[in-house]
Order: sequence, then C-alpha cells, then structure tokens
Amino acid sequence: MMIDSSAMELQLNLHPADGYKSPSQRARRITEAWFAQNAYCPVCPSENLSPTRDNTRVVDFVCSDCGAEFQLKSKSNPLGRKIRDAAYQPMIERVNANQSPHFAFMHYARDNWSVRKLIFVPGYFITPSVIEKCKPLSASARRAGWVGCNILLYMIPPDGRLPVISCDGISPKQDIRQKWERFTWIGKALPESRGWITDILLCVRRFGRHEFSLADMYEFEGELAITIDYYQNFHILLYAISANSACLL
Ligand SMILES: [Zn+2]
Repeated sequence: MMIDSSAMELQLNLHPADGYKSPSQRARRITEAWFAQNAYCPVCPSENLSPTRDNTRVVDFVCSDCGAEFQLKSKSNPLGRKIRDAAYQPMIERVNANQSPHFAFMHYARDNWSVRKLIFVPGYFITPSVIEKCKPLSASARRAGWVGCNILLYMIPPDGRLPVISCDGISPKQDIRQKWERFTWIGKALPESRGWITDILLCVRRFGRHEFSLADMYEFEGELAITIDYYQNFHILLYAISANSACLL
C-alpha cells in the first residue's frame, strides 16, 4: 500500500494527559489530542477536524469547512466485533432521524503508546441494526437504570469500514475520500430504506464473489427476517449500486 506523502504520526504524545490521574481520562486526553493533530476530513478536502466545545453527547469533532460531525471511540484492545458507545436513547434517536455522526474507531497500544488501527465509518452506515441496546445498570450502580449501547462493527458492510491505518500501513487520503464518496447516496435514502440497503449490502459482501443470483439471497431469508416484498427492493438496490459504482458487482 502506498504511504501518503503527508503520513500520519503514529506515536501518541502523552503530554496532553499531564495532571490527569484516571487511566480512562488520560487515555481520552491522549487519543483526542492525537486525532485533533493528525486526522483529516474524509468528506471534503479539509486537512483538519476541530474538537467540539459544547459538551454535546454524541459529537467529538467537527469539520469547520463542510460541517461533518465525528465521534471518536478509542480502545487499547483490538476493535473486535462491538464497541461500547454512550447513552442509547440520544444515539438511536439520531440514527432513526438519519442524523448519526460519522465515527472514527481507534485501536492504540499501551505498551509503546502508538496507534495500531484507525477506521472511519460514515454515519449513513449506522443503522438501527448496528446499535445494540445494553441492559440498564443495576440498582446498586452509581448511575442505576442508565442504558448504554454498543456499536456492532460486524453488522457494518466492509464498504462502510474505511481503513485509514491498518496492519497494511496508512491509506492515501484520496483513497479514503473516494471510498467515502462512493456510498454517500445511501445517506440520502429514507431512514427505513437505509436499513435494508445496508443489510442487503452486508449479505452481498459475504458472498465474496462478483456474481450471484436472487436465489442466492434466500440463504439470508431467516437471518434478515424479511418478506418477498423486501426482495423486490433488492433489484432496486442492485440498480442503485451498479449506477453509483459500476465496478462493484
Ligand atoms: Zn469536511
């Protein structure tokens, strides 16, 4: 993979955590400072994303040029299948209203404080299928009754997980921006359509081949719990995908 001429610095600077004792607060300060310094906007040509200062619950960074909003989630363990997010209710309300922020998921190493992985996920790939409601905190918890949520990475089609930093290296910015642009049409769909479009796209990608039939899709009938009407939509999706990215299928 080609390395971008303006390659990202993978080493994390620990100074932003000076004066903080809580490990989680320290990690948050360090990773957010790195993101502010190194991340770029994948939506437009802007080279910077700015931290938000309004204590909003679901947005951490914003592009001052195009207004795109991002939430950064960082883990010292590999990203795995799911990532804990914040409160369920405000998140699902935004998702249902087609207003999910975009996400940046980071895996960093604590042994040498370096960034191992960073992926962007466009907000239009965040559908109700991707949000898992957690059990309310127990009565003995400090925030008893509070309900959080998980983001299910395995429910997001690979087209929606853009590898900025991976074991293959650092992706060129223009590659990430092109991949981002490819499916922006999903974001313009109605909320109820966006769900089935991304669910079907996930199934299509599981075939791992470029040719398949409608009959093949019946493999997923139980999993998707859908009807024949739903499959009629499948043709519309194929038309939309091929019209928007001719080399995809
Ligand atoms: Zn932008």
